[in-house]
Amino acid sequence: MQRVFVVSCPGCEREIELPEGARPGDTIRCCGRDYRLTYAYGSYALEPPGD
Ligand SMILES: [Zn+2]
Repeated sequence: MQRVFVVSCPGCEREIELPEGARPGDTIRCCGRDYRLTYAYGSYALEPPGD
């Protein structure tokens, strides 16, 4: 059985389905920006790139 995780994009608030094997620290691309995947308290989140 496969578990599918989704994260909300902080840029456009769209829900993004994580690719299989995604891990914290991975880069997820959405709306033209690269976000860093983080994991805390049982759920994934996206962090904007440092700017
Ligand atoms: Zn986005």
